[in-house]
Amino acid sequence: MEKVLIITGGSKGLGRGIIAAYLAANYRIFSISRSKNASEIAPNITQLQADLSKKEEVCGILEKIFSYFSATSLEKIVLINNAATLGTITRVENYGAAEIENTIFLNTIAPLILISDFIRLSLNWNCRKKIINISSGAAQKAYYGWTNYCASKAALDMLTRAIAIEQNSIPNGVKLISIAPGIVDTDMQATIRKADKTDFTEVARFVEYKNSGALADAMLVGAKIFEIDEEDTAENGAVLRVS
Ligand code: NAP
Repeated sequence: MEKVLIITGGSKGLGRGIIAAYLAANYRIFSISRSKNASEIAPNITQLQADLSKKEEVCGILEKIFSYFSATSLEKIVLINNAATLGTITRVENYGAAEIENTIFLNTIAPLILISDFIRLSLNWNCRKKIINISSGAAQKAYYGWTNYCASKAALDMLTRAIAIEQNSIPNGVKLISIAPGIVDTDMQATIRKADKTDFTEVARFVEYKNSGALADAMLVGAKIFEIDEEDTAENGAVLRVS
């Protein structure tokens, strides 16, 4: 019997830390991102190349991954919606339609499509089924210049809670949780530090996080997310944060 992890955005940052933790527990890994660098991460992961801000590249990708294994061979299957972008950090009147569409699609709509497909494709499966949505403190706290990001992560938390109610009403439904990882030392934080003060009024605080060593290591945070999954003590629909 095998355990499978499907993760978006496993090519770098937190996604790499999550992959390392699940690999150590002998999960078979499928990672979806735009870049392909499996040999750098681990030779035995299957990487699928897709731009998840584009509907045509999201639709059908889970069917493809599910064709690699059969229900009867699985002990557990986990989907982690991790890929996301801050988008352009600036006031909302500077966004334009394309910016809004790309960020909201990648951060909220793609996870929702993947969740919908995952639940449908695994409907009558007897194995343990889990979905973890990687959220952010910005789902709860508003930041100047981050409207798309804050709104997209708040929506991710709410869709986690709403779908969990549905899943609780059926036998062996999928368990969903949302986890805010805290501040992690990745390219996303580097992007924040490069923002202009006029676009992001709190930039100095984020520069200070880096300088004072306050950013968490992606490998450690990945291990904590794995532990939360394995312990499995949170109720369906829980919105959690890595402490
Ligand atoms: P990151 O270093 O920027 O990595 C983002 C990942 O998403 C990469 O693997 C990237 O791969 C993938 N990705 C980006 N755009 C994509 C697209 N259009 N299609 C497919 N894949 C795409 O970010 P991170 O810091 O690791 O963030 C991981 C998660 O943690 C995100 O959900 C983020 O919101 C959340 N988070 C991070 C922090 C933090 O402090 N870092 C704080 C709170 C929440 P490719 O470039 O190869 O496509």
